[in-house]
Amino acid sequence: MTDDTTLDRLTGETTELLQAMIRNQCVNDGTPESGHESRNADLLRTELEGTGADIETLKILPGRDSIVARLPGTDPDAPALMLMGHTDVVPVSPEGWKVDPFSGERIGDEIWGRGAVDMLNVTSSMAVAFRHIAKSGTRHPGDIVYFGVADEEAGGRFGAMPLVEDRWDALQCDYVLTEYGGSPLVNDDGITVLLTTAEKGGAAQVVTVSGEPGHGSMPYRTDNAVAKAAEIVRRIEDYNPGARIDELFTSRIKAQGFDAELEAKLLDPGRIEDALAEMEPALARNLHSCCHTSFSNNIINGGTKINTIPDSVELQVDIRILPGETEEDVRNHLQTAIGPELMGSVEIRPYFDQESMSTASSTDTPMWSALVDSIQMSYPGAKVLPSMVTGGTDARFFRRKGVPSYGAGLLSSNIGLGEFMSRFHGHNERIDIESLRLTTKLWLDVCDRLWA
Ligand SMILES: [Zn+2]
Repeated sequence: MTDDTTLDRLTGETTELLQAMIRNQCVNDGTPESGHESRNADLLRTELEGTGADIETLKILPGRDSIVARLPGTDPDAPALMLMGHTDVVPVSPEGWKVDPFSGERIGDEIWGRGAVDMLNVTSSMAVAFRHIAKSGTRHPGDIVYFGVADEEAGGRFGAMPLVEDRWDALQCDYVLTEYGGSPLVNDDGITVLLTTAEKGGAAQVVTVSGEPGHGSMPYRTDNAVAKAAEIVRRIEDYNPGARIDELFTSRIKAQGFDAELEAKLLDPGRIEDALAEMEPALARNLHSCCHTSFSNNIINGGTKINTIPDSVELQVDIRILPGETEEDVRNHLQTAIGPELMGSVEIRPYFDQESMSTASSTDTPMWSALVDSIQMSYPGAKVLPSMVTGGTDARFFRRKGVPSYGAGLLSSNIGLGEFMSRFHGHNERIDIESLRLTTKLWLDVCDRLWA
């Protein structure tokens, strides 16, 4: 149990660390030379040194260090808990922002800047909670491991992916807590807090469309690859693989506290599309992805010269799959979407080398119970429900190793779920201090409960 004065102090420390991490501008644009996460790894190392924890800097590429700190437990047989936060952020379009996205400025009771909700807020609060436990001299039965990891935003190739494989000696743990979750939904039945137990898989595909080259001055009845690609893009956009209303989606919808009519429509595969079409876009977008395989035409390259009819176009389609779906299912979806007559001009290959299936963790664990109890400390009587995240997180590497991994955090009721989600990778990303306080407290409460 952490008293209010201590919690005030820790909240201040989380706030300052968050500001410093935002200002370090660890912007990951997907290229190996971006990210510069060593700045945040070095900062975290300085913050955690001298606390009695064993600290190691983990190196994959120059400039892209990750850091792991382990606080040994008293019982070697007790399960170890990892608190994992990524240290990188996605690029910004500064013209869309009201403030400098890397100022880390405090305006009123909010901290503004890239990373304020994804996920430097969590990464900083975990470091502060870890340091507080280490310095207090409290030793829990199991190890507590803090992992500040690089390159989450571009798929973990220079972070969790190789480190989980090659440095399990350093990362060894039995449970993982990471992003994201903890946005409270307030409705007539009370408060519901959603945490993440599952995430969709990624099965992006490259669609190459071929045509016949010719002179641009005589386009009549030619086989123009750009024109065909335009039709293919339209068909993929219009394609609906159908909604899957499974148990996780049903509990998610029930948690939202919609009126009975809307709830019934959203749980009916025949009526859900109409219901989504009438809802607020930010929330509809998320709910849609939670029950559909999704297709997003994100990159198109084609044509060579202004006076030449193009003979090749490459489309890169971001595709996110539901639990149980495979690359083969994805190819079947694309074939159906594109149609037999156009498929003759098309080749499809996977964008990624490795298949990335959807992953899920059971809630039947002491870790989940500790999370539920801890959230109810801050929101008495709250229902805590599992949900699926539509993007990818580093949790998947741990789930594949059999380690139950949950996306958690705890936010104030000032931020609605739709608003919270729109701040991810969006303009004007920011977090209120009350949310930083609740999240910092959550990690401390969880550590008090997991081994109790
Ligand atoms: Zn993130």
